[in-house]
Amino acid sequence: MRIRTGRLVRILVSALVLAGVAGPGAGLAQPAQPGPKAPAAANLRPFIEALRPDALARGVSEATFAAAFAGVTKADPDVLARTRRQGEFARPVWEYLVGAVSGARVARGQAEAARLASTLAAVEARFGVPRWIVLAFWGVESDFGVSAGTVPTVRALATLAQAGFRGTLFRDELLAALAILERGDIAPAGMKGSWAGAMGQVQFLPSSFLAHAVDFDGDGHRDIWGSQADALASIASYLNALGWNPALSWGYAVTLPPDFDLTAYRADLSDFARRGVRRTDGAPLPASGNASLFLPGGHGGPAFLITDNFEVVRAYNTSDSYALAVGHLADRLAGGPPLAAPWPNAAARLDKAGLQALQAGLADRKLYAGEADGRAGPKLREAVRRYQIEQGLPADGYATPALLAHLKGRS
Ligand code: CA
Repeated sequence: MRIRTGRLVRILVSALVLAGVAGPGAGLAQPAQPGPKAPAAANLRPFIEALRPDALARGVSEATFAAAFAGVTKADPDVLARTRRQGEFARPVWEYLVGAVSGARVARGQAEAARLASTLAAVEARFGVPRWIVLAFWGVESDFGVSAGTVPTVRALATLAQAGFRGTLFRDELLAALAILERGDIAPAGMKGSWAGAMGQVQFLPSSFLAHAVDFDGDGHRDIWGSQADALASIASYLNALGWNPALSWGYAVTLPPDFDLTAYRADLSDFARRGVRRTDGAPLPASGNASLFLPGGHGGPAFLITDNFEVVRAYNTSDSYALAVGHLADRLAGGPPLAAPWPNAAARLDKAGLQALQAGLADRKLYAGEADGRAGPKLREAVRRYQIEQGLPADGYATPALLAHLKGRS
C-alpha cells in the first residue's frame, strides 16, 4: 500500500504545483486550488508542540525533533502565498514541451549520460528502467540536479499542515520528514526542496522517500540532495515499484497512414503495426504490448502510441504534458528525432471553462463520469472519443471549441 500512498501523494502535490517549466517538480500545468485564508506568518509553535507526541510515538527522538524545528517559529509566507495563488490556465502541451525538452536540455542530458555512464548502467541493471527515462525524469524534475529547490522542507510542510491545507496530508508528510531526519539520511539544514514539500534532485515527498529512496553510492545515507547516484537510483526504484515494464518504452512517436481508422485507437502494438503505423525514428515497434493512440494536439498533429508505462510516468506526476515531456526528452536523449508533425493553432484549444462545459455536456449524455474540473486527461479523452465515434467525427479525443459547439448544437 505504500506505493499507492506515494502515488496518491504525488498526484495531490501535482495538483498544487502551478504552471512553470523550469522549476522543480514543475511538471504540472494545472491550476492550484485556492488555499484557506490563513493569516500570513502565523505562529507555528503551538502546532509544533501539538505534533510532538505523534512524532515521539513514531520513534522520533527529542533531540531530532528539537533539531528539526530549531529556528522554526513562524509560517513561511511565500509557501502560503503559493497556496492562495489562483491557477493560470493550463499551458498547451506544445508550449510546455518547448521549455521542458529544449535543445539545451537535450545537450546537457547527453553530456550527463556520458559522464555518468557506469552509474546509469548499474541503475538500469538493478531496476530495469532505461537510463534515458531515468535521465529524463532527473532533467524535468530538477534540471539534472541544478534546480533541486531551496525551500527548507520542514518549515514548508509545517506551514502547510498548520494552515490545514489538504486536510492531514502535509501533517503526515511532516512526520515522514522527521522520520528521515531520525534515520540520519540528511541533516535538518540540508533537507530542502519545493514550496510544496517535494525534496531534492528527484522531488520526492517524504513518504515517497521513505518507500523508494535508495543509497546507491553505498555511503550509508540515502541522499537525493547531494548524491547523483542516489538520485538516479531513487528515480528508477520508484518507477520499478510503480510497475515499469522493461519490455516497452513509455510510448512511441509514430506516423499514421492516410485514412487511418481512428475509432480503433486501443489495440496491441502488433495490430497497429499491421495497420501501417510506423515509428518516426524508423525502428520497428515491439512485437506485442498494449497501446493506445495519443493525439495531444488532435489529428494531423504529432501522434504517439502510449503503453502501460505511460501510466507509470503519470503516476509520478499526473499530467499528460509532464508525461509526454519525460517520454519525449528520453527519446531525444537516446538520439531520437524532434517531433516533425506541426502542432495545431493554439486557438483550437479549450480553456478551463470550456473544458468544464464540455465535461458537463458529455456527462449529460452519459459519456463522461468524472468531475467537471476543467482538466484534460485520459477520462475526458475517452469521453470525447466516444462522442466523436457516436457522431461520426474524427475520433482523436481532442477537445476543441468546435467540438464544444457541436455538442451544444446537439443538446
Ligand atoms: Ca548514499
